[in-house]
Amino acid sequence: MGIAPQYKHDCSDCNYLGQYKEYDLYICLSEPTLIARWSSKGPEYNSGVVFGIIGKEGHPLRECLIRALKVPEYRNVLNEHVLKYETSNMVAYGKILREVSV
Ligand SMILES: [Zn+2]
Repeated sequence: MGIAPQYKHDCSDCNYLGQYKEYDLYICLSEPTLIARWSSKGPEYNSGVVFGIIGKEGHPLRECLIRALKVPEYRNVLNEHVLKYETSNMVAYGKILREVSV
């Protein structure tokens, strides 16, 4: 994804997805979850697949979800997670999937 992260982030299960606005974006494969970090201080990040799905355009976790879905390995992990835990958001997720696939 080009540029290195701006902030410290110490999770070896996280995969960097580039910068967006002031955020460093990651997908963490152990949870799995999506992460948008805005500082090197431990707790200064947002996370959650659900916020990628329901977040409006411009939300860093929505951008994070879109970037992750373009990588087949990450897409498979997210599909599984959504089938298990986000069934109430399946319609919204499906819409994003179709946007990414075109
Ligand atoms: Zn992680």
